[in-house]
Amino acid sequence: MKFGGASVASPEHFARIADLIIERQCVFPRLVIVVSAMGQTTNELIKLAHQVHPNPPQREYDMLISAGERISMTLLAMILCRKGKDAVSFTGSQSGILTCSQHTSAHIIDVRPQRLIQTLEQGKIVIVAGFQGVSQDKEVTTLGRGGSDTSAVAIGVALKAEKIEFYKDVLGIYNKDPKMYSDAICYPTLNYQEALTIVNQGAKVLHARAIKLAEKNGMPLHVRSFISRHDQGTWITSVDCKKSINPVYEIS
Ligand code: ASP
Ligand code: MG
Repeated sequence: MKFGGASVASPEHFARIADLIIERQCVFPRLVIVVSAMGQTTNELIKLAHQVHPNPPQREYDMLISAGERISMTLLAMILCRKGKDAVSFTGSQSGILTCSQHTSAHIIDVRPQRLIQTLEQGKIVIVAGFQGVSQDKEVTTLGRGGSDTSAVAIGVALKAEKIEFYKDVLGIYNKDPKMYSDAICYPTLNYQEALTIVNQGAKVLHARAIKLAEKNGMPLHVRSFISRHDQGTWITSVDCKKSINPVYEIS
């Protein structure tokens, strides 16, 4: 389950998604949650960086902007704990997300999710900070704006997940912006190429890199609402969707 910035915008939002996670765990006992930073947090961190340096050193910039997801993952673990569930949060680095060393726009080379698997085997809910990884020289990297969708797909691929659910403040993927056009139509299904075309035309609903990574690995994606839980949402898959045996990441 992937939760974007709008779904974790306030403490009340965390309570709501915690209930949703607990409900989902009855159906899927082994759940991994990937979170984005709360609301505008990443923008605020970027603004802060530029208040102290017009051209911030890239290493420090990634250390700073990756902090937003770290806030979200811990708050979610805490609220799940308060609701009686065992949940453990992990940074991208702790989750084994290995990237190239290109700060602020790193690509995923490999995922080594041993710690996540151990935690799942203990019956605990795993929470992973999106948008970040660690380079071969052990530096924290970020994946580019909107990159936590790509984190979610990479983790799902590494763990051979059945599917990945993206929780949004809209019902799914539409033919035009539903926040601007009341007659926008939500697609029940799309193939990967159709979804890519829609996001490449500017729809911010999913990161293009996440869709490409899912296509490479035959990973079904389900975009749905965290508010209106019983709506169908949009499935992104292909008719001949075969799961790859060995995971393929962004760069090999
Ligand atoms: N928090 C990061 C951003 O705002 C990553 C994400 O939301 O996917 O770009
Ligand atoms: Mg964000």
